[in-house]
Amino acid sequence: MADISQELLSEIRKTFETELKKDRRFHVLLKRARDGTGSYVHANSYARLIGRALSKAIKANVSAGVLPQGRLYLELAQQIITPMLKEGHGLTTEYIKLVQDSINKEAKIGLASQIPEFNIDRAAGFVKKASAAESYDDVKWIFEDDAYLQNFFEAEVDEAIQQNADVQWRAGSSPKIIRIYHEGTKYCPWCAQLAGTYDYPCDRIVYAKHRDCHCTVDYQVGKFRQDAHTKKIVYRGDIEKISTDSGLSEKEQQLLARMRLSRR
Ligand SMILES: [Zn+2]
Repeated sequence: MADISQELLSEIRKTFETELKKDRRFHVLLKRARDGTGSYVHANSYARLIGRALSKAIKANVSAGVLPQGRLYLELAQQIITPMLKEGHGLTTEYIKLVQDSINKEAKIGLASQIPEFNIDRAAGFVKKASAAESYDDVKWIFEDDAYLQNFFEAEVDEAIQQNADVQWRAGSSPKIIRIYHEGTKYCPWCAQLAGTYDYPCDRIVYAKHRDCHCTVDYQVGKFRQDAHTKKIVYRGDIEKISTDSGLSEKEQQLLARMRLSRR
């Protein structure tokens, strides 16, 4: 299987790089981070572009027709998917480092930026899922719906926020976690209800994502970086009115009310 895996991997990598290079947003986001004006919301957008490009690259090069017996065997999946998840992780964390370094510099924090390691368990879980069916046609939806890979890299951004907020909190700062609900997608009362600013450490639910959830989490420490783009996309609807059918239990709502500092 060595031959086909090498060939597939290099084709996937080629399409992945082409997809990113031709995407104007990719360059705009990268420039922001390099200029020192990138935020975690930008890192989240960047992570989504990576997930989308990787989904496209796999869709374009992998099909039942090119796979032995029309099946994506676990071993082959480990040879072609895992290295690409690592590559996406490398790009995402490179971006995170640029953002976090500039936040630390601006807030005059003398701590090193925390960069999440490649999450081997999550990668293994993804690869296992992708190779679970006897026929590739029965599992290819995992790549056809690019939300899965987008969420994979978005989770690294959220992980970085938690890690950095945590070291800063331990060092005596008072970081705040901000969960932002974005307009433009199907209205989600659960997420609209969760939007707000919380003191770190806060309950895990503040970071929780459902499938195809693209809420972003940001954090502030020291002087907050006001971002015009972030402000514009924060949901400003009448959140309170719908809180009863948000899908959160009464206990969760009470917990949130206690933790929440403000609505944005
Ligand atoms: Zn959401």
